[in-house]
Amino acid sequence: MSSDLKNVIYEWLMNERLLGKTTIKLDSKIAANLIKIMKNESISLADTNPRPTNIYSVKPETKPASPSTPLTDKKPKPHIASPTPPEKKYVPIPKINPPLSNDNPELAECSKSVMQCTDCELHKGRKNIVFGEGDSKSKLMFIGEAPGAEEDSTGRPFVGSAGKVLTGLLADIGLKRENVYIANILKCRPPANRDPLPNEIAVCHHWLDKQIEIIKPKIICSLGRHSTHFLLGLEIPFNKIRGNIYDYKGIKVVPIFHPAALLYHPAWRVDTEKDFQTLKKLYGEQ
Ligand code: SF4
Repeated sequence: MSSDLKNVIYEWLMNERLLGKTTIKLDSKIAANLIKIMKNESISLADTNPRPTNIYSVKPETKPASPSTPLTDKKPKPHIASPTPPEKKYVPIPKINPPLSNDNPELAECSKSVMQCTDCELHKGRKNIVFGEGDSKSKLMFIGEAPGAEEDSTGRPFVGSAGKVLTGLLADIGLKRENVYIANILKCRPPANRDPLPNEIAVCHHWLDKQIEIIKPKIICSLGRHSTHFLLGLEIPFNKIRGNIYDYKGIKVVPIFHPAALLYHPAWRVDTEKDFQTLKKLYGEQ
C-alpha cells in the first residue's frame, strides 16, 4: 500500500471525527475491505485520533442491525448476564364467591350504593367497583390504595400478583384471606395504575369510613404510603414508620410495605415478614 493511500485513510477518518461522527456507515463489503487493509498495513487509529479509539466503528448499511465492527484490535468486553432475581413467593388466591361481606346486610347495602357512585371521574373508566371482601366480623382489616387492572376486571381486591404476595404473607402467620377483611381507599381503578389523586381520596374515603364503622376492626394494616398517609397523616419516610403500631380512632394501625412494592424490591420481604409477626402478636392479643 502506498503511503499516499494510508494518508488518505487517516485524513478521511480525521475529517469524519471533526464532523463529530462516532460511527461511519459503509457498505458491508467496503467495511470488510477497509478493516482488512488497515490490519494488513497496521494502521492504528490511535495515531490519528486524540480521543479513545473505540469511539470509531463501521456499521454495515444492511439490516438486521448487527453490533458495529470496531476499527481496533481490541476484543469486545464479555457480556455479563444480570443477576437472577430471587424467587418470588406466590400463593394462589382462593375463590370467594360471593364475598363473605355480602353476608353482612349493612355492608351489602353500602356496596350497592357504591355501585351507583359517580362522584369522581374514575367511574368513567371502571369495569367494576372493587368494594372489598372478607370476613365482615374480622379483627384485622387491610387497606390498600386503589384497584389495579386485575381487580378492576374481577371486582375483587388484591387478586393480582400483589394479592398473591399478600395471601402468602397471611399464610405465613396462619391466616387465610377469608379470616380478614381487605379493601382500598378508592373503589374504582385509576387509569394506568397511577397514584390516587388527593381530590379522588377526598370524595371517595367516606365509603371506606363506612366500611370501618361497620366492620369495627381492632387492627388495621395499612398497605403502603397512601393508605398510611390517609389514616395517620404521616409524611415521614415510610421505612421509618413501617412495622410500628399507631392509633386511628382507637384502632391499632400497623403500616407495612405495599405488597406490590415487594415484587420490585424482594429484599423488603424480610422486614415485611417481621411486620407480619407484629400483626400476628396483636391479632392473638385481641
Ligand atoms: S373512586 Fe370512589 S368516589 Fe370515585 S366514582 Fe369510584 S366510588 Fe365514586
